[in-house]
Amino acid sequence: MLSLKDLSFWEKSVYLQNIDFCVVGAGIVGLSTAIFLRNNYPDAKILILERGYLPTGASTKNAGFACFGSPTEIYDDLKTISENAVWETFLMRYEGLEMLFEIIEPNLFSYQNCASWDLIQSRDELLPVDFLNYLNDKVKSLIGQEQVYQEETDIIEKSGFKNIIAAYKNRLEGSINTGALIHCLYKKAIAQDIHVLFGIELEDFDTCQESVELKTNFGFIKTSNLIICTNGFARKVIGERIKPARAQVLVTKPIRDLKFEGTFHFDRGYYYFRNVENRVLLGGGRNLDINGETTEEIKTTGQIQEKLVSLLENVILPNTPFEVDYSWAGIMGVGNEKQPIIEKLNNRVAIGVRMGGMGVAIGAAVGKKLANLF
Ligand SMILES: Cc1cc2nc3c(=O)[nH]c(=O)nc-3n(C[C@H](O)[C@H](O)[C@H](O)COP(=O)(O)OP(=O)(O)OC[C@H]3O[C@@H](n4cnc5c(N)ncnc54)[C@H](O)[C@@H]3O)c2cc1C
Repeated sequence: MLSLKDLSFWEKSVYLQNIDFCVVGAGIVGLSTAIFLRNNYPDAKILILERGYLPTGASTKNAGFACFGSPTEIYDDLKTISENAVWETFLMRYEGLEMLFEIIEPNLFSYQNCASWDLIQSRDELLPVDFLNYLNDKVKSLIGQEQVYQEETDIIEKSGFKNIIAAYKNRLEGSINTGALIHCLYKKAIAQDIHVLFGIELEDFDTCQESVELKTNFGFIKTSNLIICTNGFARKVIGERIKPARAQVLVTKPIRDLKFEGTFHFDRGYYYFRNVENRVLLGGGRNLDINGETTEEIKTTGQIQEKLVSLLENVILPNTPFEVDYSWAGIMGVGNEKQPIIEKLNNRVAIGVRMGGMGVAIGAAVGKKLANLF
């Protein structure tokens, strides 16, 4: 393959010279950052570098839940982090979705306000009686919406689930077509004269007085400013504040008369599933092998895929024959804190990573904050 130094005069001048902003990573955060930079700097030369031939982290591999807070998740968070941090994260997710809908029309990526349900498997997972009242009051004071949460246990029988004893509904959560969202962001970036080069990997960088020198697998690139949006792959840049977290998914073949619509979680959010075009998409199981799943390697494992199949048999589709059609893995970025890292590393370099399982909701908001750091 040609190294960058062997490119033509034309290629160098169009793509690689006088770059004002270089964004690394073409996931939801990288693409949103570039789009918000364009708003702030109409004449700047903006380049996105992506190492894969497609984005190769989480943004084209996720389950497409547009979620901002399920009751059991908020209940658990309130036990481990401060109340302020819990509601800050809630708002960041809720407002992040609104921001995403402002930059891309929601119907273009098949957003559906289909609601979500927390499914409860055992009595010790039940929420205290007055918790939903507390949630509804708090959420009304934050976003002005009445009665967002309610117990709705008849969904269990209607959907044909087994081994579930209760269900809590969030009427405002929804689902998206993950691939379509990234494609829309990509199209918007191109339409705004943002260059995207695939297959180029940032290996290292050096901040100088007037510029940042990027060492890539094809040679050196100079940019005035660098923004790193590599999420689960950012350990090399910021060390142990971020860890890769693999998440695995499967999708069945289409099922005739699939009885449920919407998005569902159970076992404290460790498992999640939804109806996608009359197929079941089911993901989760990282808790079965946390050490093994703390990896940047994008592959599925027998242990987790077998568990997902057994949950289809015993909980989700107990009386329905099914066949698995797809299975895949993606890499998230997590850490000791739930909130993302959005900061400047020096006056020319910024980073926006650690989206956890919330990137669909917060990705656009993180992009805006990153762009506004310059
Ligand atoms: C299976 C799965 C299910 C999920 N489900 C949901 C969900 O339902 N709802 C939700 O909100 N979130 C979900 N998430 C999390 C969500 O997908 C992520 O939070 C979000 O996509 C992160 O976006 P990002 O742009 O920060 O990172 P990424 O999408 O990972 O993008 C980072 C990009 O950087 C590139 N890159 C890395 N290193 C380099 C380098 N050195 N040089 C050049 N490029 C590089 C990668 O190839 C990648 O494309 C899920 C994740 C997974 C894996």
